[in-house]
Amino acid sequence: MVGVYHTKIREMKEYAKRENIPIMQEEGIDYLTTFIISHQIKDVLEIGTAIGYSAIMMALCYPKIKITSIERDEKRYLEALKNVKRFGLEDRIKLLFRDALDVKLSDKYDMIFIDAAKGQNINFFKRFESNLNDHGFIVTDNMYFHGYLKKDESEIKSKNLRALVRKIRDYHTFLANNKDFSTKIYEVGDGIAVSEKK
Ligand code: SAH
Ligand code: MG
Repeated sequence: MVGVYHTKIREMKEYAKRENIPIMQEEGIDYLTTFIISHQIKDVLEIGTAIGYSAIMMALCYPKIKITSIERDEKRYLEALKNVKRFGLEDRIKLLFRDALDVKLSDKYDMIFIDAAKGQNINFFKRFESNLNDHGFIVTDNMYFHGYLKKDESEIKSKNLRALVRKIRDYHTFLANNKDFSTKIYEVGDGIAVSEKK
């Protein structure tokens, strides 16, 4: 399935590299697509489209999957629209050009993938958890934030970065203490949290 798209996928990755767009790492995307297939996920909400790379990779898992993805940056949103068209996936990937923190949705999803502003993860989680089907999953990328989560705070020179790392730590605590979900954190890519609704 993915074989015939090989060149287009490579071009998308090259664009991301050139433009410094933090798309999912190879290992992370492999984990995510395997997870989707093994749990037979059919409806996905993604927070943070960027140029559509992860949305497209998820859509290529199988034809019965539908993705809604939110992006607040206009240039990236337009690039994502272009990419979705190039793959002919317009009927299965719906892109919303909005700030996710202003969006209220009524549809339900089997999986919500959070991969946007890392300091806002608790807010994204709370805003969209009611959109999850019973026994659905909230999956969050960059739990280790480029390895910074494993460093001592004194090693991090920038004040802004320290504040962001602290917020991601708070998100770890929030997940660990959340009684409605059981969360496991996997050491793949930049660290992926899988929170299953009880
Ligand atoms: N999931 C993508 C990568 C996303 S990068 C992939 O792997 O291919 C994170 C994106 O989230 C950025 O493009 C950023 O503009 C977007 N973002 C950050 N905060 C957001 C918000 N509040 N609402 C919508 N998009 C947001
Ligand atoms: Mg990410």
